Amino acid sequence: MGTFSTHNFKDQKALIRVDFNVPIKNGEITDDTRIRGALPTIKKVLADGGSIILMSHWGRPLKDIEKKPNLTLADFSLKPLIAPLAKLLGTDVQFSDDCISADAAQKAKDLKPGQVLLLENLRYYKQEEKGDKEFAEKLSKLGDVYVNDAFGTAHRAHASTAIIADFFPGDKKMFGLLMEGEVKAAEEVMHNNKRPFTAIIGGAKVSDKILIIENLLDRATDIIIGGGMAYTFFKAEGGQIGSSLCEDDRLDMALELLKKADEKGVCIHLPTDSIIADKFAADANTSSAASSEIPASWMGLDIGQMAIAHFKKIICESKTILWNGPMGVFEMDKFQHGTKAIAEAVAEATKRGAFSLVGGGDSVAAVNKFHLADKVSYVSTGGGALLEYFEGKELPGIAAISKK
Ligand code: AMP
Repeated sequence: MGTFSTHNFKDQKALIRVDFNVPIKNGEITDDTRIRGALPTIKKVLADGGSIILMSHWGRPLKDIEKKPNLTLADFSLKPLIAPLAKLLGTDVQFSDDCISADAAQKAKDLKPGQVLLLENLRYYKQEEKGDKEFAEKLSKLGDVYVNDAFGTAHRAHASTAIIADFFPGDKKMFGLLMEGEVKAAEEVMHNNKRPFTAIIGGAKVSDKILIIENLLDRATDIIIGGGMAYTFFKAEGGQIGSSLCEDDRLDMALELLKKADEKGVCIHLPTDSIIADKFAADANTSSAASSEIPASWMGLDIGQMAIAHFKKIICESKTILWNGPMGVFEMDKFQHGTKAIAEAVAEATKRGAFSLVGGGDSVAAVNKFHLADKVSYVSTGGGALLEYFEGKELPGIAAISKK
C-alpha cells in the first residue's frame, strides 16, 4: 500500500472516498465535523499540486424511498455540501450529479491541478452497497490514486470503500490522514497496549457489547462495566435491580462472561452502587442504593459515588484506556455525574501518560459535552467500524488497502 503523507500528488487526480454523511436539516448542514475531518487530506493533495474527486454516501436513499414514496433521490443529494465545502477549502467545488455518468468522467478528466470535483451520492446506485465490481471499476477510472479517508464506513465491503481498491496497483491505494490516524490509534490499543490496559464499556444493552467484551478478555487487564448493561450482570448474580434495564435472555451469557474473565485473570469491575430514580425522566425523584438492592419500581440510571471512586482509581492507574459507552443516562443532568467523572478520570490518566481512545457514538458525545475531547489521546469518528475492529473482525476498508 502507498503512504499518503509521503506520496507526491503533483499532476495526479486523487479519488478520495470521504464520509460526508453529515446531518442536514432544511438544506443546511447542522454539524460539519465530518467534513472538517477530511480537510487535512484534501489540503495536502491540493498543496502538492494535485486535483481531487470526492465521493461519499449520504443516508440510505434507495431504502428510505422504498418505505416513504413521498421522498425522491433529490432529498438525498450532496448538493447542499458544495457551498460549505468551497468555503472551508477557500476554492471552487465542481459537482457532477451522477457519480459514474459521462459527465462525471469528463469533469474528472478536465480537472486541473488545485481543482476539486464532488460526485453525487454514491448510494443512488444499489451497486454501491452491494459491492458491485463493475460499478467499482467505473468509479476507479475517475482517478489515478485511490485514497480512503472514510473510517466510519470501513466495516462495509461496499464498492467505493473496499472493492474499488482492487483496480489500483499497490502504491496507488492508501489511507487518507483521518483514516491513518484512526487505524493507528486503534492498533495502539489493540496490539501495542501498555499494561495495565483498562476497557470501559457502558451504554444501554449488553447484547450490543458482548463480542467486544469477549475479545477484550484476551487483551485487557481490567474491564469496567457501567451504564444500563451493568444491571443484567447484577440480576444474573441474584441481585434485586427493580425496574432497571435488563436483558433477561442474556442472564446466562452474563454469568458466562464473568466466569471466562475469572479464568483468564481479567478483573471485571461492576458499579457497586447506583443513582436510582422513580421514573425514566429528567425530573424524577432520585436516591442512591447498592446496585444489587434496588427497590421495586426504582431504576438505576447512573453509577453511584462508591463506584465513581473505585473506577477512578482503576482508570488513573492504567497505561492504556479504551472507552465505549456512557456510565448512565448522561443526557439528563441528574444522571450525568458518573459519565462526567469517568471522562475526567480518563483525561487525568492521559495527562499522566496513558494512551486513551474514546470511540463509539455516545461516549464521544459525552467527552464533547464535558469539553474533554482534547484531553484524551484520540477520539474516534467511526462508531460501528470501531466497535467491529475491537470485536476482532477484519474491516474490509482497511483490508482492501493493506493487503499485498
Ligand atoms: P449505547 O448506544 O448502547 O452505547 O447506549 C447509550 C445509551 O445508553 C445512552 O443514550 C444512555 O442514556 C443510555 N444509558 C446509559 N445508562 C443507562 C441506564 N442505567 N439506564 C438506561 N439507559 C442508560
